[in-house]
Amino acid sequence: LDLEKEFIRQMRANGERLSSPRLAVFRVLARQNSTRIPDLVATMQRHGLDRATTYRTIKLLRKLGMVRDVTAGGHRVIELTDSFRGHHHHFWCRNCGKLVDFDDDELEKELHRAAKRLGIQLSSHQLEMSGFCEKCQKTQSTTNL
Ligand SMILES: [Zn+2]
Ligand SMILES: [Zn+2]
Repeated sequence: LDLEKEFIRQMRANGERLSSPRLAVFRVLARQNSTRIPDLVATMQRHGLDRATTYRTIKLLRKLGMVRDVTAGGHRVIELTDSFRGHHHHFWCRNCGKLVDFDDDELEKELHRAAKRLGIQLSSHQLEMSGFCEKCQKTQSTTNL
């Protein structure tokens, strides 16, 4: 799936104009995984886009269901929705704040089995894992010595 093609398709389907700031914001989001809004604003400023334009663009993409807010470790981040990225979950490192996307077929199957056991018709789910990333585990063990 070509992310940019999908973006253009969805913008057209929603009758939205495909301006260069919109495309620029999308490109940055497509390149990174989950992004904190202030970080995105800073990146866009380096691309010559002012704060207001970036915020307006995020708001529009959110309204169109192309971008969603996710809470990871108490921080609000935004990312492209499943139609771009595919379904996935997040791991968040409690020490360095690193955010990792992951997916797991077995996990998905098990969640559906659990829903079935509960008699639930599942429409969506969220899952967040937190702990210490590989790098921080090493630092931790040296500090603890
Ligand atoms: Zn870490
Ligand atoms: Zn899932």
